[in-house]
Amino acid sequence: MQVDDKETLEYQSVQVLKGVGQAVAEKLERLEIYNIQDVLFHLPMRYEDRTKITALGALQPGQPVLVEGIIEHSEIKFMGRGRRSLLCYLSDNTGGIVLRFFHFSKAQQARLANGTRLRCFGEARRGAARLEIIHPEYQVVQQSDETVEQSLTPVYPKTEGVHQTLLKKLSDQVLKKISRGELVDWLPAAVAEKYRFPDLVSALLRVHRPDKDENVFALNQCSSKAQQRLLFEELLAHQLSLLQSRLATKQTTAKKLTIDEDDHARFLRQLPFQLTAAQHRVIGEILADLEQSHPMLRLVQGDVGSGKTVVAAAAARAVIDGGYQFALMAPTEILAEQHFSNFKQWFGEERCLMLSGKDKGKKREQKLERIASGNSQIIIGTHALFQDDVAFSSLVLLVVDEQHRFGVHQRLALREKGRFMAGREDIVPHQLIMTATPIPRSLAMTAYADLDYSVIDELPKGRKPVTTVVVSTGRRDDVIARIEKACENGEQAYWVCTLVEESEFLQCQAAEVTAAQLSKELGGVRVGLVHGRMKQEQKQSVVERFKNCEIDLLVATTVIEVGVDVPNASLMVIENAERLGLAQLHQLRGRVGRGGKQSACVLMYQAPLSEMGKQRLGILRQTNDGFKVAEKDLELRGPGEVLGTRQTGLMQMRIADIVRDEKWFPEVKKTASYIISHHPQAVKPLVRRWLGKADRFANV
Ligand code: ADP
Ligand code: MG
Repeated sequence: MQVDDKETLEYQSVQVLKGVGQAVAEKLERLEIYNIQDVLFHLPMRYEDRTKITALGALQPGQPVLVEGIIEHSEIKFMGRGRRSLLCYLSDNTGGIVLRFFHFSKAQQARLANGTRLRCFGEARRGAARLEIIHPEYQVVQQSDETVEQSLTPVYPKTEGVHQTLLKKLSDQVLKKISRGELVDWLPAAVAEKYRFPDLVSALLRVHRPDKDENVFALNQCSSKAQQRLLFEELLAHQLSLLQSRLATKQTTAKKLTIDEDDHARFLRQLPFQLTAAQHRVIGEILADLEQSHPMLRLVQGDVGSGKTVVAAAAARAVIDGGYQFALMAPTEILAEQHFSNFKQWFGEERCLMLSGKDKGKKREQKLERIASGNSQIIIGTHALFQDDVAFSSLVLLVVDEQHRFGVHQRLALREKGRFMAGREDIVPHQLIMTATPIPRSLAMTAYADLDYSVIDELPKGRKPVTTVVVSTGRRDDVIARIEKACENGEQAYWVCTLVEESEFLQCQAAEVTAAQLSKELGGVRVGLVHGRMKQEQKQSVVERFKNCEIDLLVATTVIEVGVDVPNASLMVIENAERLGLAQLHQLRGRVGRGGKQSACVLMYQAPLSEMGKQRLGILRQTNDGFKVAEKDLELRGPGEVLGTRQTGLMQMRIADIVRDEKWFPEVKKTASYIISHHPQAVKPLVRRWLGKADRFANV
């Protein structure tokens, strides 16, 4: 089955399709669509039923539906801070709903005049008085005579400038081409037979254009045979790609270290605490890896506060005693600073160096020189460690902290950067990835099948679980009183501000306003403020003052999410908690409960809280266990959101869902090894088909 790429249909450029010129092709690239095959495997993410109109009186929240009615009345409501929304009251002879627009033009407003008949599609939610649809798709219709769609509507993932109609037109053309049978089916016949899968072409036809009488609900669960076949193949492709990547890594060479037991014990003795058994075990696993001549690729997962930093330090000790360099990359400057100050204590100031984006000019040059000469052995930094002019002299171990903030690309780029020649050997650094984002085991074994995996599943002794309460902003006064009381007792507190606005500027502004207000409300309490737009030194000095108990209440944006370590702080208030992800809330909450005191976390929400919101915040109230939080969050929101990988490309699945489709994993694993040994020629095309460009990372 050897085929030349250029010859086959699937690798022809999208530009052979009608309606695709240079400009459209460029837009399609944003969806990673380059060739015919990419169009074919750009699969609907869900389906909509626009084949029937639902009566307004029968509407249920949470389901996208087609409705029709007459506009009774429209008005503009002002919502404070200069924001307004347009409300249209729509009714039919069974009931009524509100259409709400946050963005609207004059022309649009004019078109939505009283008496207009509108057909809308959208999802109803509970509003203040009745059900609302926010920003529905709508069209003006004359009488109720216009026809509805005759088949189910596939909804494709889209991007700016690429709309559903275009994607539908393109897939129409491509589906015609493949029905002539020019597409290679790489799934071995034995496998398809075993699971009774339909052939590739019929599966694709059905998934892109399901029959009208297929059940939309079932389709949206991906439970049809055609969908199952495709998602199986996708999971398989990911598995193959990870196995390839792992294999490629294992074939490179890393520095083999000799671990001296006595030196290690001496390092542990100088610590102000005893390691937990879990820390001991994980350090042992890491040191054993470092004694190998192929690179370590290990993920260390440990809940917030489980003590990951010292685990990294124990490994660093072995590296620098051997005369080599150790680098630690953190996602924020505050966190990098925190690590830097810890490492200076453990290893002495002269061996350590911190590089951040803020270093400029002469100072930066001097630092780069110390890195390149090997003068500094412990290098701590942010993304700044990536920049082109940073060259290490002998990087043997690279630690990436809080990995969910970094994409795979960055991780691999850094690994490349660390390559150096030792004599005639090309050396790749060992890599350790540390994350507090709890990764359920099943996920760890698939999304990270290229990594070995260690868990610190124990917290240091004496930690008391944080008591979490969920209250509405209506009870703000009680919360204020609680802070006052805590501070009177010599405790310290955090107040975390969040905003819907993406803009960091607005977030910081809101934090400033809140800090001023709280300082007025809380007479005797010393209030400090830290946010992302402050200078690094300013931030650092505020955090320092908080540490030294010169500040009682620290108002902050989510910049404090990771890395701030003040054991005396025992109360945390999080505003608008319903807007944050559970993992993020859990991470924030981990800032308290670090000392021996009973700590509390107050999750404040803006009423009304949706059913989903209630469930999600309820999870945090019920458990302090990061694993449980993550598992629930995964169920509720899906892996892309939870792992923060949506933007990074890792595990961006077209049709499979690692939580929903978990039952397939054992079969996928078996099939992957079967293909590698019996049909090796299918590996590359399968990976390329499903991972497209993403597969370039697998071969670094
Ligand atoms: P995380 O896993 O969240 O990165 P850190 O490494 O920041 O946790 O550790 C949290 C705090 O716990 C730090 O103050 C650290 O010094 C302390 N710590 C770490 N290990 C232990 C231990 N075995 N016993 C007591 N305190 C510890
Ligand atoms: Mg940490």
